[in-house]
Amino acid sequence: MTSMAESRYKECRHCGNRVHPRTRQCPFCGEVIGAGWFSLVGTAMLVLVVLGLLTYAACNRTPSPSPGRATAASILLPE
Ligand SMILES: [Zn+2]
Repeated sequence: MTSMAESRYKECRHCGNRVHPRTRQCPFCGEVIGAGWFSLVGTAMLVLVVLGLLTYAACNRTPSPSPGRATAASILLPE
């Protein structure tokens, strides 16, 4: 039988032992408790930031013509 107090305990995803809700780390196996969604959101935000930076860099780089090619073309041009 499980009492109300026991039902409040979280079950470790790694070892299955009941862990106190206040505990952030499983005392049995060391698995971090209750940080699944947080790490998921953190990873998603990190990906979004990286994607945003890549898009920003791509948008900044695309419009400007490469000066290297222009210089090479001017060098190849006969006088
Ligand atoms: Zn555990």
